Amino acid sequence: MDTKNLGFNSKLIHSGQFHDEFGSATVPIYQTSTFSFKSADHGAACFAGEEDGYIYTRLGNPTINALEDAVADLEGGYRGVATSSGMGAVTAVYFGMLGAGMHMVGHNAMYGPSRMVMETLFKKFGTESTWVDATDAQNVLDAIQDNTKLIYLETPANPTMGITDLEAIVKIAHEKNIPVCVDNTFCSPYLQQPFDFGVDIVLHSMTKFINGHADIVAGMVITKTEKYYSEIRGAMMNIGSNMDPHQAYMVNRGLKTLAIRIERAQESAQKIAYYLENHPKIEWVKYPGLKSHPQYELAQKQMKGPGSMISFELKGGFTAGKTLMDNVQLALLAVSLGGVETLIQHPASMTHSKIPKKSREEAHITDGLVRFAVGIEDVEDIIADLDQALVLI
Ligand code: PLP
Repeated sequence: MDTKNLGFNSKLIHSGQFHDEFGSATVPIYQTSTFSFKSADHGAACFAGEEDGYIYTRLGNPTINALEDAVADLEGGYRGVATSSGMGAVTAVYFGMLGAGMHMVGHNAMYGPSRMVMETLFKKFGTESTWVDATDAQNVLDAIQDNTKLIYLETPANPTMGITDLEAIVKIAHEKNIPVCVDNTFCSPYLQQPFDFGVDIVLHSMTKFINGHADIVAGMVITKTEKYYSEIRGAMMNIGSNMDPHQAYMVNRGLKTLAIRIERAQESAQKIAYYLENHPKIEWVKYPGLKSHPQYELAQKQMKGPGSMISFELKGGFTAGKTLMDNVQLALLAVSLGGVETLIQHPASMTHSKIPKKSREEAHITDGLVRFAVGIEDVEDIIADLDQALVLI
C-alpha cells in the first residue's frame, strides 16, 4: 500500500511490507541463497540490471528488501542498505565514500569501534581522519581539508550524550560539497530524522532500538537521494556484510513496536535522570531531557524526545561506579542498549576501551562515566534497584 501520507505508527506496521499469494500477514522469510531465472536471457538481463529479479541473497532478497524499504520510509530517505551488523553499516559507508588520499572529519566521542576502525584499518589503506568536538560546529569547519570527503557524526554521541547541531554542520559541509553522515542509533527515526536537517546519509545499529529485543545484531544505511546509494550498496555487496533473511524477519518484527517501546523507556528515563541528578552520591548526569544538559535547547529543536540513554558519574569516580555496577540486580551489567531490558556498563573499560586514554579524555569519556540504558520494566523497580546499590557506596 502507499504509506506516504500515513502517520509514523502506521508506517511502522505497513511500510515496506508485502503479502504473499497466500495472504500472509507478515513478510515471509525467503531463506534461500540463490534464485532461479526464468531463462538464460532473463538471467543475463537481471545481471545487466535491465530487468527486475532476484539473483543471489548477498545482492538482494525479498525479506531483506522489505526491511530496507520500511526503514528508508521511516527515515524519509531514498533507499536502505541492510547490513549484518551496525559495524557492517559503518564500514559500508567508509568503503563506499572514502579511499586512499581522502580525509574524514569525525566527532571525537562516538561508538569506540566506529572511530577505531578508521584510525587503524582504514589508515592502513591511506585514509586519514581528524576527530574533533563536533558539538562546536566551528571545530568541524577548522578540521576540514582540501581532501575531506566525509563528515561523520553521532548525535547524541555514545557515551557522552553530547548533541551536535546538524543544521549548522550541514551548512558548513555543503558549502564545501562534503556529504554528512549521521549515526542515528541512539534516537532511531522515531526521535530524530537527520534528513530533515539536510544530512546525506543516515545509519543505524539496528541491534539497538529498531530491533529492540537484544536477540539480533543488525545494521542499516539509508541515503537521502540516489546520490551515494550505489557506492554504498556496491561496497556492502562486495565486502559481503549483507544481512541474512532470518535476521531481516526478526528485525522487521521488532520494528513494529519501536514507538511504544521508546515512549515507555523514555518516560522512565526522564524520572531516573531526575532521581540521579538529585542523589547526593552522583557527581553529574547527562540526559538530553534535563535542563542541565549543555545542549538542552538544541535537543528540544532537533529531537522529538530525549530518549532513554543516560550517562553519569558518581562522586568517587570509577571505584564508586564499579561498586554500583557490581551491585545492581535488575539492570544487567552488559554492553548494548535499546532493548527491553535495562543495561548498565562502563565505557572506559568496555565499549570504548580500545580508544587511547588521551583521546578518551579529550572526548570527555571520563574513567568514572557510567552508561545507563533504560528498558521497559516498571520505573519504580529500576529506581529501587539503583537505590539499593547506591546505599552500598
Ligand atoms: N553505532 C552505535 C552508536 C553503537 O552504539 C553501536 C554498538 O553499540 C554500533 C554503531 C555498532 O553496532 P553493532 O554492534 O550492531 O555492530
